[in-house]
Amino acid sequence: MTRQTLHLEAITFDLDDTLWDNHGVMVATETGHYAWLDEALHEWLSRNGRTFSQRFMEQFPLECFEGRRRALARAHPLRRGDFTWLREQALRELLSEHGLDPVMAEQWARRAMARFMELRHRVAPHPEVEALLVELGRHYRLASITNGNVDVQRLALGRHFPVAIAAGELLAPKPDARPFLAALARLGTAPSRALHVGDSWREDVEPARRLGMQVAWISPHIDELPLPPGIHRLDHVRELPELLRRLGQMAPG
Ligand SMILES: [Mg+2]
Repeated sequence: MTRQTLHLEAITFDLDDTLWDNHGVMVATETGHYAWLDEALHEWLSRNGRTFSQRFMEQFPLECFEGRRRALARAHPLRRGDFTWLREQALRELLSEHGLDPVMAEQWARRAMARFMELRHRVAPHPEVEALLVELGRHYRLASITNGNVDVQRLALGRHFPVAIAAGELLAPKPDARPFLAALARLGTAPSRALHVGDSWREDVEPARRLGMQVAWISPHIDELPLPPGIHRLDHVRELPELLRRLGQMAPG
């Protein structure tokens, strides 16, 4: 097979489970902010001489909160990818049903979300990521494209991404092509000149490839399956420089 020479100008990155392992931080965030809400609300109610028959988490265990978010996503399909909105809305509903008036329900939902966001950003990027982005930034224009609610600009490594797309909040979560097109337009490059790096076959690999991008698929668990041209499987993002060399691109030494 003769390979057409690639002239990559830009690299776009998924964040969760691509630049860091997301599972642990999500679990800690989910349980942490909900328990914080239960405790802080209980204290506040006690201080104000208000006693409810049940504490918030007794009335609405974590599963109820998850169920409410799913129901809201079904009822508001356009916002199904806007996890921050779904969470805040679900909290507001549960807090109202717990007995708070609408103003207090909104305030407590907002406080819980602030706590959620603080915990959500305690991600630990893989140790190789910082140096990798420094080097890649010398040769390529870089963007992040996430469906999640991490604001990459709140992280130290955000400075490597002049373009950061929050696809869920655009109401067009991946696999929608729009977040990819928005990133490439802002980077001033064409899909054929760009490589996307991500862990999800459905949300990263398929849509990027359909647009004509090259794709680095971070997938440690699958052996050498034959992959369509343009899709390159890596065990870990640290292998990206080696892939770029194989593709005949400039890469960190
Ligand atoms: Mg991901």
